[in-house]
Amino acid sequence: MISHSDNFISDMDDYYNNLINKVNYYSTLLDTIVFSPNDYVIFDIDETLLFNAVYYYLSKNILTKSEKEEFDRIQHLDLGIPIYPVINLIYNKIKHKCKIILLTARNIIHKNITLINLNNYNIIYDNIHFKENPDECTCVYKKRIRDSYSKIKLNVGDQLSDFVNDNSEYQFILPCFYRSECKHVL
Ligand SMILES: [Mg+2]
Repeated sequence: MISHSDNFISDMDDYYNNLINKVNYYSTLLDTIVFSPNDYVIFDIDETLLFNAVYYYLSKNILTKSEKEEFDRIQHLDLGIPIYPVINLIYNKIKHKCKIILLTARNIIHKNITLINLNNYNIIYDNIHFKENPDECTCVYKKRIRDSYSKIKLNVGDQLSDFVNDNSEYQFILPCFYRSECKHVL
């Protein structure tokens, strides 16, 4: 159990049980939604398609600056493990029905390993967005990218930053294991 940081709001058992319940609910709801090829569906990556919370936990809460730099270097080897309930019961059901947009707050420096991760797990997409300015608030960045698309049919994520001022027709809000430090209010 990882719980001694205020940023972590779930233990693993609670998180996983909540995840399964929500994914099953959303998967059933998905069967009632009609998608067209021009509809956009946005997926967050971390804690949505790939589980990456431990990275943030270690990098922000335990390590010294020099240790964090080393950890960041090592992280180029891997950045997350697949969240198969979401991939199989939500993502795979719609990936060929509409345009898939991946919208991540991962920095652009992690682009290469992220693309390898996604390819390893057969996560295909029509477009992917990385955060290029680390100083830009994640809420602002994600809204800015969402606003560049029309007809967002569905938005799938786990953090407040995924849904601030979101105009998507449907929102699938997954359990939040790790709370982002983003405090910006639009
Ligand atoms: Mg996330």
